Amino acid sequence: MIINLEFDTPLPAIEALCDRLSFMGFTTQLYHHDEQPIIMVLQGIDATIDQSAFSDLPYVKSVSFSNEKYKLVGRHLHSQPTKIKIGGHQIGGGPFVAMAGPCTIESEDQIHTIARLVASKGATILRGGAFKPRTSPYDFQGLGEPGLRFMRDAARANGMLSISEVMQTEEVDLLTEYVDILQVGARNMQNYSLLKRLGSCGKPVFLKRGLSATYHEFLSAAEYLLAHGNPEVILCERGVRTFETLSRNTLDIGAVPFLRELTHLPIVIDPSHACGRRTVVPALSYAAAAVQADGIMVEVHTDPDRSVSDAAQAITPETFEILMKKCNAIHEVMNAI
Ligand code: PEP
Ligand code: MN
Repeated sequence: MIINLEFDTPLPAIEALCDRLSFMGFTTQLYHHDEQPIIMVLQGIDATIDQSAFSDLPYVKSVSFSNEKYKLVGRHLHSQPTKIKIGGHQIGGGPFVAMAGPCTIESEDQIHTIARLVASKGATILRGGAFKPRTSPYDFQGLGEPGLRFMRDAARANGMLSISEVMQTEEVDLLTEYVDILQVGARNMQNYSLLKRLGSCGKPVFLKRGLSATYHEFLSAAEYLLAHGNPEVILCERGVRTFETLSRNTLDIGAVPFLRELTHLPIVIDPSHACGRRTVVPALSYAAAAVQADGIMVEVHTDPDRSVSDAAQAITPETFEILMKKCNAIHEVMNAI
């Protein structure tokens, strides 16, 4: 349900209304749509509720029941794209953003070297896993906190932001302390306890699409984050599981235009996990720029064959440099015409 308030409703009156609704058992969030204050009632509404009980409240202009599935991530109240601003950086509705770095943080030296190289070639966000969701329990599981510290320092030394995966609710505080953006991996897209906890983590969340998640499931997972208080969410298409076995996953490039029609959130493509093969990563990155994704997340390593994880898809800093030049050129053309 959407409660449209008068334009000039004073803030204390809005707060009093929200308190009253909360006392009545409803969960609410306050929005401004073209400067008009709106109270979105998220929970506690059913069809038997008498609309006049709300329309008679002070400062209420009108009340409407919304059938929107995506109350908060949908475009109906938010026609402009969301721009996430962190320091001097912007994700969404601006420059083509590159998040680059190794699959796994392997050592202090490794992450500093890669950070310096990718930053010099146009990456503004340093990626690297310290808690790794590995298919086999015997594979390297990540450096944990020391790894996060190495990455934070490497990012800062090169004027970059940092992003790393959080796998469980117990790790949220630790990740929040070290990184600028918290990543939810594909395997955790529907971990609702984690999503609820991240709603109040105070940092942007990068939500990767589940291995076989539909757009509806993907957007509903994002809706959890917003409904629990976090409006700064970036969606990431990273390939879905299909019948093809040569490619690690299959990049669903159509996800970008489809999701754009439905949501105002920024959308990023991860070509590395989508294909799993370094020779294919550049072409998928160009496709990302051509469909006007807001950016890419790419795995880069100075010695790709020796990456402790995902070696087959790691590209060199030299390849990354060319890739960035072409992506920026495509981005420019797409915006100019
Ligand atoms: C990653 O980006 O490090 C990762 C594990 O990706 P995904 O969750 O998409 O498999
Ligand atoms: Mn990886």
